[in-house]
Amino acid sequence: MIKLALILMISLVASCSTAMKGTTVPENGTGPGQTGTEQPTAPGEGPQTPAFKAFSFIQMSDTQLAFHTGDASDFLTDTLTLDTLVRQINRLRPPFVLVTGDMTDNSTNKAQLAAYRKVIDRVDKSIPVHHLPGNHDVGSACSKAKVAAFEQNYGPSKFSFTWENCALIGINSCAIFAANPSSGDPSAEAAEIAEEQYKWLEQELKAAQDKGARIVFGHYPVFVKSISEDRSTNNFSQEERERYWKLFKQYKVAAFGCGHTHYPYESSYLGIDAVTCGAVAAPLGKGYRGAELWTVSAEGKVTHKYLSIQEFVNLRSL
Ligand SMILES: [Zn+2]
Repeated sequence: MIKLALILMISLVASCSTAMKGTTVPENGTGPGQTGTEQPTAPGEGPQTPAFKAFSFIQMSDTQLAFHTGDASDFLTDTLTLDTLVRQINRLRPPFVLVTGDMTDNSTNKAQLAAYRKVIDRVDKSIPVHHLPGNHDVGSACSKAKVAAFEQNYGPSKFSFTWENCALIGINSCAIFAANPSSGDPSAEAAEIAEEQYKWLEQELKAAQDKGARIVFGHYPVFVKSISEDRSTNNFSQEERERYWKLFKQYKVAAFGCGHTHYPYESSYLGIDAVTCGAVAAPLGKGYRGAELWTVSAEGKVTHKYLSIQEFVNLRSL
């Protein structure tokens, strides 16, 4: 009897430690799988299923049909590249796809909009596609009318949802940029949108405190290489950079993912990754056509890698 009791005790300890390995422990120590009371596993029941599963998803940016061809009606290469990526999405089957802005070069060109819609609609209906506005979608002033037109074409201009243990939040970064542009007049309408959105973002981050990870997305980079880099058309004002990074730090955001530059770049500040995704459309600088592959582990660790279109074609599975 003593021997049997000993075997039962050893098996109980082993299954508890297996279950803990796969359980996300949120920063505040409460939440799913962390009740504070140990639940004994009945003998023979085996290891418990982890609370969350690791998952990968794809962020694409700047599909920007007709960018740099010099002809608004010439976007065949961009459409074919997007179509190749869509085919890989349907084969690899991520749980969702994010598109971080500048879907077409000209948001009022009906042929470009129709061509984008035709290809993106080929994404399997079981895979949701969430769009965020870029400056080519809502204009440099990011007026309320342009944002409304964007929402008609692409759905909400910001989003917040949870997948497994990860909160995914998308913002209209064009409003933040247009409220404090690198040149020209600040847009009062954009400032209004940006301030309302800031409060919403803060609330969403607060509500996601018990998640294993939080990632925020937008079109414009907050900054590309360094928080103190020179002001340009590729970053927020110094004041806004610090404001948003401070908020991200407060709520333990793992990364900010964006696009706009047409070349991929990764940097980090205060432990928060700044991930600039290259373009599906014509690259700039050292860029190449591709998309960002993001992975969130069962424990909430966030990793990311920019892959060329060819690397997506060669990828066996997510
Ligand atoms: Zn852009």
